[in-house]
Amino acid sequence: MNETIFTHIINKSIPADILYEDDEVLAFRDINPQAPLHFLVIPKKPIATINDITPADYQVVGKLSGVAAEIVAQQGMAEQGFRTVMNCNEYGGQTVYHIHLHVLAGKPLGWPPYQATIKQG
Ligand code: 5GP
Repeated sequence: MNETIFTHIINKSIPADILYEDDEVLAFRDINPQAPLHFLVIPKKPIATINDITPADYQVVGKLSGVAAEIVAQQGMAEQGFRTVMNCNEYGGQTVYHIHLHVLAGKPLGWPPYQATIKQG
């Protein structure tokens, strides 16, 4: 089983500031926020990376975006706009190997989001 820190958040064995929960999905504030509103939306099923998504997961992976938008709207930040990001593996900057949709809102966000820190080759 692919157990990560997010498994413990799902199991409530470590605390998190939970914004939404149902049988399939959990959303909670990021411990190191990069915007006034920064939360993560995850499937309860432990899928390690975007590369590991199968067609059976398409429904729940799509639901992550829907739940993200609902929460941002509840927080009154939808009209100004926001960003969702899902990092994948080393070059994508992924550090927790349980897929999670980052949701950042509440300030203008630059693009590209940051300078590359890993040199190719
Ligand atoms: P990644 O780098 O994998 O795309 O993002 C992982 C995110 O998980 C980071 O933004 C990090 O701050 C967040 N994170 C890591 N550990 C914890 C934790 O124990 N609790 C919460 N709420 N967020 C965490």
